Amino acid sequence: MEKFDAKLKRIEELPLIEPDGGEHSESIADLVRRILTLLGEDPDRDGLRRTPERFEKALRFLTSGYHQDQDKVLNGAMFSVAYDQMVLVKDIEFHSLCEHHMLPFSGRVHVAYIPDKKVVGLSKIPRLVNMFARRLQIQERLTNQIAVAIQRKIAPLGVGVVIEARHMCMVMRGVEKQGSQAVTSAMLGEFRENQQTRKEFLSLLRGK
Ligand SMILES: [Zn+2]
Repeated sequence: MEKFDAKLKRIEELPLIEPDGGEHSESIADLVRRILTLLGEDPDRDGLRRTPERFEKALRFLTSGYHQDQDKVLNGAMFSVAYDQMVLVKDIEFHSLCEHHMLPFSGRVHVAYIPDKKVVGLSKIPRLVNMFARRLQIQERLTNQIAVAIQRKIAPLGVGVVIEARHMCMVMRGVEKQGSQAVTSAMLGEFRENQQTRKEFLSLLRGK
C-alpha cells in the first residue's frame, strides 16, 4: 500500500514538474518570436532571425545569479586578521534588471566593513555583487542583500553598502532627468549605530 501511494504521489507530481523543463514547454526564444510578432515585426526577416535565441542567451546570463549560491561565491575567501580598521571596496560596476520593467539599471556599488577577526578576499566582493545583480531586482533589495550576505559570512562589527545607479526604465521613458542617479544605502552594526563610522565611510566615497 505504501508503495502504491508513493507511485501515485509521483504521478500526481508530474504535471507540476513539466512546465519548467518538459519538452512540450515553449522556449524563451519561442516566446520572443511571439513578442516580435505582437510588436508588428516579422521575426523571420534577416536581421531578426537569430534574435530570439540571442535574447534568450543574454537573458539567461543576466539572470544567472539565481543559480549561484552566496556561500559558494564567498567560500574559501575568508582570512583571519588582526586588522580592525575600515575595509573599503569602491566603484564596483554592476548591471542588473529592474523587476518592474525588466529593463537594465546599472551603476556602482561601494562596500565597507569593519572586520572582527575575519576579512573577505577583495575579489570576492565584486563576485557577490554580480551574483545578486544578475537577478530581477530593485535597487533597495540589492543594497540590502549585499550588506546582509557580508554580515552573515564574516560577522564584522559593521557593514555599509551604497549603490548609485541609473534606471533605464526611467531614463528611456523620460521619467527622470538624464544623468540623475538613484542612491540607496544599507548600514548595519557600527555603520548604523556610530555616526562617526558612517561619516567616515561617506566621506571616503565623496573623496573618489
Ligand atoms: Zn523599472
